[in-house]
Amino acid sequence: PKTAYVRTKPHLNIGTMGHVDHGKTTLTAAITKVLSDRGTGTYVPFDRIDRAPEEAARGITINISHVEYETDTRHYAHVDMPGHADYIKNMVTGAAQLDGAILVVSALDGIMPQTAEHVLLARQVGVDHIVVAINKADAGDDELTDLVELEVRELLTANGYGGDAAPVVRVSGLRALEGDPRWTASVEALLDAVDTYVPMPVRYTDAPFLLSVENVLTITGRGTVVTGAVERGTVRVGDRVMVLGADQETVVTGLETFGKPMESAEAGDNVALLLRGMPRDAVRRGHVVAAPGSVVPSRRFTARVYVLSAREGGRTTPLTSGYRPQFYIRTADVVGDVDLGEVAVARPGDTVDLTVELGRDIPLEAGLGFAIREGGRTVGAGTVTELL
Ligand code: GDP
Ligand code: MG
Repeated sequence: PKTAYVRTKPHLNIGTMGHVDHGKTTLTAAITKVLSDRGTGTYVPFDRIDRAPEEAARGITINISHVEYETDTRHYAHVDMPGHADYIKNMVTGAAQLDGAILVVSALDGIMPQTAEHVLLARQVGVDHIVVAINKADAGDDELTDLVELEVRELLTANGYGGDAAPVVRVSGLRALEGDPRWTASVEALLDAVDTYVPMPVRYTDAPFLLSVENVLTITGRGTVVTGAVERGTVRVGDRVMVLGADQETVVTGLETFGKPMESAEAGDNVALLLRGMPRDAVRRGHVVAAPGSVVPSRRFTARVYVLSAREGGRTTPLTSGYRPQFYIRTADVVGDVDLGEVAVARPGDTVDLTVELGRDIPLEAGLGFAIREGGRTVGAGTVTELL
């Protein structure tokens, strides 16, 4: 029998973001190593984070890896996202749940396009606290690193993060992984900064249960399991739930977090739900599991959207009514028609109010964040303002 999950510390969701090759995965592995040496975590080597072999073996597309660890005061689920072009999609879907982020910037390269893009999107999807890890400090020179730090603080300030107050910690994930005492201490300092700078968020545990499905797996002999982060409410083994998208009501017959069974899960937890009698093919990423009757899916809404500039990786040409991109909302990926009304055009760099009609009904509500993508890149980020 597996050991049950015991909730002894507040749980938070964090993640690494930043330009490809700046050391996000190395730092993630280093954090687990430093904490396992302290006795509050299990070491997860680089290869396991980067490839998530168990899930790859089941033929599921993995574009996000979770690790868990504890500091003295908190339990964390940490997501490390790959640095390719698909990054943003995962960040938007994963970041909807991020309570804080570790922005990894190489001391050797400084701010690169994806560094800026991730900070912008973090702001758009409501990540309120960013701690900076200037990584590869073992290989950088001090004066250059000072410049990188200045540059990062400016970037944060430009995006509404208060760059002067943000903790900036110089680390070496690689040397900490090798057990070097100085750089091990640097990773501990980073974790202390996360512990103190990222506040415990308000959790809507009293609201009706809602979880957006990230992955679906089959456990031989047990049935269909969906994974994701609980957005709000609580769920217990035995609860009836509605799977929106599959449009099927079912019962939760098992609950786990990081392989440990649990009696009840609450807002903020990363969980796997075993669903009674749910056919594997009926449920997909992007479906929503919710308390029956608590949400009514819809497809028309108004939104305020920031259209990324070309410099931020966005379009070079304006949007017009009739534009039909993909909308990434929670974990769903849905086509939608854009109507700009009297505004008529939205240029890269503009913030506009527009109307969207999605290709299918999904649970929507005012305040919900989303990304707009076209041809594999992010061209906009927005927030639902009103359902129509
Ligand atoms: P990611 O794409 O941001 O996840 O970056 P990786 O963790 O895959 O690291 C990219 C490269 O940078 C690898 O070759 C790492 O060995 C190297 N690297 C990562 N962290 C450090 C560090 O602290 N110091 C040095 N010198 N190299 C590092
Ligand atoms: Mg990586």
